[in-house]
This record gives sequence, C-alpha cells and structure tokens, in this order.
Amino acid sequence: MRLILLGPPGSGKGTQAQRLVHRYGIIQLSTGEMLRAAVAAGTPVGLKAKDIMASGGLVPDDIVVGIISDRIDQPDAKRGFILDGFPRTVPQAEALDELLKRKHMKLDAVIELRVNESALVQRVETRAAETLARGEEVRIDDTSEVLIKRLASYRQLTEPLIHYYSERRKLLTVDGMMTIEHVTREINRILAAIGAVEPHAPKAAKAAKKAMGSRSKPAATAANTAKGPANAVRKAVKAVARGAKRLVRKVAIAKGGKSPKKVTKKRAKR
Ligand code: AMP
Repeated sequence: MRLILLGPPGSGKGTQAQRLVHRYGIIQLSTGEMLRAAVAAGTPVGLKAKDIMASGGLVPDDIVVGIISDRIDQPDAKRGFILDGFPRTVPQAEALDELLKRKHMKLDAVIELRVNESALVQRVETRAAETLARGEEVRIDDTSEVLIKRLASYRQLTEPLIHYYSERRKLLTVDGMMTIEHVTREINRILAAIGAVEPHAPKAAKAAKKAMGSRSKPAATAANTAKGPANAVRKAVKAVARGAKRLVRKVAIAKGGKSPKKVTKKRAKR
C-alpha cells in the first residue's frame, strides 16, 4: 500500500502515519524528519536545509525528490509506505508521478486531513509544550510565528495538490478536526472501502496466525495472512477426501476384493 498524507502543519499527519505503520506494517517516510536528521548529522543536504527550515521556508524540490527517490528503493519500503510531508508542491507531485512510473509502483490514495486553521496554532503550541514536558528539544519551527509562515506556504504551494490529486481520482478527504481515534477509524474505513486493505485486516491476520500456529510466517502481508483461514479449510477438505479414498480401498481389500484403484486400472487395460 502506498499512500500520501496531505494536510497543513499540525493537522495530525505524523500521528496518523504512525498508526498506519503500526496497523499495516508499512513505513512512514517523512521528509521533515529526514531533513531534521540530515541537519543534526551536518550532512551537505542538512547544511543546505538548516536555515530554510528554521525560517519555515521550503527546501528546494530537487533535494526532497532525491531523498524520497533513494528511500523508496530500500528493501523496507517494498511492502509499502506513507509519504508524510511530501509532495508539498505541484512540481514535487509531478516528479513523484514520474519516479513511481519509472519504478513501476502505483499510488493507492492521497488522504487529505482537513482542519480548521484557527485550531492549528493551538495544536502546535500544545505539541511544543508536550515536547518540553518530556524533556525533549522543541522543534525550531514549532512557534506561532514560524507556523503562520508555514501555513501561508501551505496555502500557496501545497493546497493546489488537493485539486491535482482530485483530478487524478486519488483524493480522499477526512475531517481532521475529529478526535485522533475517530480520524484513524475513518482512514481505515476508507482504505477498506477503496480496496487498498482488506476489511478488518489485522483481526483476520490475528485469526489466521492462530489457525496456522507456529508455522505462520511473520513477514506475510496482512492481505496474504488474511487468506490463511480459507486456505487452511481448503487443505483440510482435501486431507479428509484423501483419507476417505484410502478407507474405501482398505475396506475393499479387507472384503477380499481388490483396491478400487487397481480394479479400475485392470478394466482400463481390457
Ligand atoms: P514537516 O516536519 O513536514 O513539518 O517539515 C519541516 C520542514 O522541513 C518544512 O517546514 C520544510 O522546511 C522542510 N520540508 C519538509 N518536507 C518538505 C518538502 N516536501 N519540500 C520542501 N521542504 C520540506
């Protein structure tokens, strides 16, 4: 499954991406996080991005497109990924289309988290306070001043993506003002509705695992594992049929006759 989470800063993309990772075993690719890691490590990309990020601007398209292109080639991205914070501009979306086409990959859906802008300042302030309370360092761009700039940039450069993906029939909009739990449930519901995941995939996966005991493969996808019970039933039916045939043969031999299979073969010779 390959998804894009679209929404302004503070709309809950990161939180929902984590929940999708947990539920479907796919990876989250956050360009913001990758860039922060590059800044912390002082790599050439980090050095270029540092000041732009601190001021709430956008890092040049070629840098983020390059990061994403390399990252989705890694083995852990094979089962699928959620793009969080990418694409952020129409040229990035076009570059993504191009690179997915080149890699023979298909995008399943773009989930837009629609939120009320006035609530975002409050959310970002809460996020900063919670980070401080945990004794962690607050993001340099998690301030109301920078947020206002990031929101303006979202409106101008990222919001056109709603039209871009809606035209391509990829856009699914979820009310991001609901509780975290409700948003998660709604995302899971629409993913099942479009057939991107099996309905109740984790439940089915759990049941299948139980049915298959220790032989279950941990790396199996949710969709494959969900087919487990049906396969197990099919196997059981075949085993019973084989047993019944063996029994008929034994009874025939015990009665002094020949195995029905051998008789059939003899008849066939005549
Ligand atoms: P985020 O964690 O997604 O809020 O991103 C933090 C910052 O990283 C943004 O304000 C940008 O400066 C930069 N950034 C993240 N993703 C992108 C992107 N796709 N294009 C350009 N800049 C980005």
